Amino acid sequence: MQKSKIEWTDFTINPVKGLCPMACSYCYARRMYLNPFYKSMYGNQTIRFDQCELDGPAKIKKPSKFFVGSTMELFGDWVKPWWMAKIFKMVEDNPKHTFIFLTKQPHNLIKWSPFPDNCWVGVSLTGKEQNGFAYPLVHIKAKIKFLSIEPLLAPLKIGNNGFTNSLENASIGWLIIGQQTPVKMSTMPKVGWIEEIVSAADKANIPVFLKDNLISCVDQYPIAIDKNGNYRQEFPVLK
Ligand code: SF4
Repeated sequence: MQKSKIEWTDFTINPVKGLCPMACSYCYARRMYLNPFYKSMYGNQTIRFDQCELDGPAKIKKPSKFFVGSTMELFGDWVKPWWMAKIFKMVEDNPKHTFIFLTKQPHNLIKWSPFPDNCWVGVSLTGKEQNGFAYPLVHIKAKIKFLSIEPLLAPLKIGNNGFTNSLENASIGWLIIGQQTPVKMSTMPKVGWIEEIVSAADKANIPVFLKDNLISCVDQYPIAIDKNGNYRQEFPVLK
């Protein structure tokens, strides 16, 4: 378990360690595992279960957010079902905390639905996925369902209210938008792509969290300002 620099969580926990088979070209965790310099911190590349990580949340008194699996896709077939069962047991044993799951394998979410009430469950998008990639969210039950559009690498297929309708149909309760880190001119999203997503979210009344790495890109634009005049970093509304 680690204190996190990710702005929307307090801690990360990684109960499954090793080199993630998704092999996303922009993955910082893969870069670490492949770099001999970090070997002492990350260990070997074999995919394995680390029970010790699950003991961390119980030691934190203040209700906190935990991003589970920041260095591994947890909903892939390489993660054993009994590992996931232990993870969800830990989630249920720590009801005062919030556990945030994010996947690029949304078709497998249904296996674990309904999720415990203290879970937020999201699908990760870059704009390069096929239409309907996040559709499985429609069929899962979770207190908060969300999309993390990061890194935003291509314009999302917004259509004529199509994206707004999809957000509403899947009861999406939160959107995160960010760009690739380290920030490079070559992967900088266009402001228009971000504006389209934010205005679709606004139509559906969905809170939007713009990551810090977008500030230089959007800070001159009204979409980046919240109701109180601050940089827009909204969180889900819990009912
Ligand atoms: S799914 Fe996540 S952890 Fe796995 S390679 Fe892609 S970015 Fe990295």
